[in-house]
Amino acid sequence: MPEIQLSGVPAAPGIAIGEVFLFRHDEPEFQQYCVVESFRGAELDRFEESLSETRRQLSTLRNRMSKLVGDAIARIFDAQAVILDDVEFISTIRNAISQEGLNAEAVVHRTANSFQEAFNNLDDEVFRGKAQDVHDVGCRIIRNLLGKGDSAIGPLDRPAILVTDDLLPSDVVHLLRKNVQAVAADLGGAASHTAILTRSLEVPSVVGLKDLTNRVKNGDRIIVNGNSGKVILNPLAETITSYVVKQNKYEEYLAELVDIEKHPAETTDGHRIALKANIELPGETKAALKHGCDGIGLFRSEYLFLTSNVIPGEEDQYKYYRQVIEAMAPNPVTIRTFDLGGDKVFTDLPLPVEPNPFMGWRAIRVFFDQPKLLHTQLRAILRAATAGPTRIMFPFVSGIMEIRQLKEIFEEIKSELEKEGFDFNPDVEIGVMIELPSAAIMADRIAKEVDFFSIGTNDLTQFVLAVDRGNERVRSLFRPLHPAVIRMIKMTVDAGHSAGIKVAICGELAANPTATMLLIGLGLDELSVSPLALGEIKKLVRSMSYEEAVEFTGKALEYDTAVELEHFCYDTMKHRFAELPIWFDNNSGNNY
Ligand code: PEP
Ligand code: MG
Repeated sequence: MPEIQLSGVPAAPGIAIGEVFLFRHDEPEFQQYCVVESFRGAELDRFEESLSETRRQLSTLRNRMSKLVGDAIARIFDAQAVILDDVEFISTIRNAISQEGLNAEAVVHRTANSFQEAFNNLDDEVFRGKAQDVHDVGCRIIRNLLGKGDSAIGPLDRPAILVTDDLLPSDVVHLLRKNVQAVAADLGGAASHTAILTRSLEVPSVVGLKDLTNRVKNGDRIIVNGNSGKVILNPLAETITSYVVKQNKYEEYLAELVDIEKHPAETTDGHRIALKANIELPGETKAALKHGCDGIGLFRSEYLFLTSNVIPGEEDQYKYYRQVIEAMAPNPVTIRTFDLGGDKVFTDLPLPVEPNPFMGWRAIRVFFDQPKLLHTQLRAILRAATAGPTRIMFPFVSGIMEIRQLKEIFEEIKSELEKEGFDFNPDVEIGVMIELPSAAIMADRIAKEVDFFSIGTNDLTQFVLAVDRGNERVRSLFRPLHPAVIRMIKMTVDAGHSAGIKVAICGELAANPTATMLLIGLGLDELSVSPLALGEIKKLVRSMSYEEAVEFTGKALEYDTAVELEHFCYDTMKHRFAELPIWFDNNSGNNY
């Protein structure tokens, strides 16, 4: 068997060498047969029993998942349980069993397929999510009818690398098993559910490997490198040896970071940076605290919609935000208001299908048309903020008009809460994300209106360079280290500082070690990165002086092209921090 190297999207860091455990989410196999009239009552009873068993399983999964990653993700199972109470779905099945005389497996299969098809035909991301839920639930009922139990994945009785088409939320509990060394999946991108889940569980993973499941069989040797996105099938002995070395170095490095994580992010000449965490779900506060952060720099609150089929009400939101604020106190939590739209289409909120969703009805634009949504969220945050220091951050702001409008609403809500006698925190700071070129250009004026800035380099790069951040075809053009993007960052930092406010960065560039010295030298006050990147970035900050970072940045600003600037940053960092294992798999500065 020849060695094959594949490249996917690195989703959660770490290196694993092991054997393939192949799992595809195939539908359970069953026979179709006729049930004579006198046995149809018994067939209906069999169906009812499988429904109860399915309900029980979903509730167990929900509880286990809630302990694992928090209540928000666990609610995915509530969405599935709702299908079991859907009158139309269930009565269609009951009627077909009693009137047509088909066996329950065949009827459940047919009904789930037709509901799934109907949702898929609606051509909307949200309904496609529901179609997936109906499919999952249908398969689960059929497995129960067949007496096949709940083992979607498993059992993994020895350590193995899970190779799968996709990782469904219901599979995640199986990742609890120590035996899952890593995950490699056909589907998914860096921001996919699989990536988010594996990152929060700290299981190394690579996603987006296309047809990997067709290329392997159980027991094949495989290497998964969640740092670089490489997957190697049938590795040669020397490849294994070189990866064992990499793995050991990486593990030694992680062990070293544990100590560093206890110290502040301060340069050798005493320049202090706030190093915070980006999180999507409350359960991630554990990892953020473990890896030593100074608070949450970006809480992507719209992930609350990931798990809910209805727009979450004020009380639900209050509890959700409070969990995070309480866990992080006395460190501050920056809650970003819902950034729905773009690629984040999670709910049955009627988000239209648009030709350019990233530039369409998104984030605060949705709020202006659906004021209740903003109103409820701000009330919930202000009330939850009594548990600890909290900041509110508005995404996708394009200029002053929007900020004034948002501030007016914010003040109205405070008076309203006061009148109603609610306990709330009036000292919540208000900031904006600088992620649109218009906002960066107007940063000097915007700075006078807000308490802080946070630069979103993912969107800023997308809009400055006119490169769709999710489009594979133009991936090589998506370059946050383009001098045009760096100039916008510099303008924003300078504008913020002239107005006396702090400037943070929370886009992916903040977590890229190639850029750390440049960002420090540009004067950013705060870097906000995924919890797993905290130790590495802290190590870099603590190993450089502010003086050298400023001098380096002066030179970096002289470059005319992205390629030159990337190489300058990468070569300098690799040379300066040669002892770090993080450069192993990167041979260019453009590794985003
Ligand atoms: C960004 O745009 O850089 C950012 C942090 O926000 P998101 O990736 O959620 O759009
Ligand atoms: Mg953004």
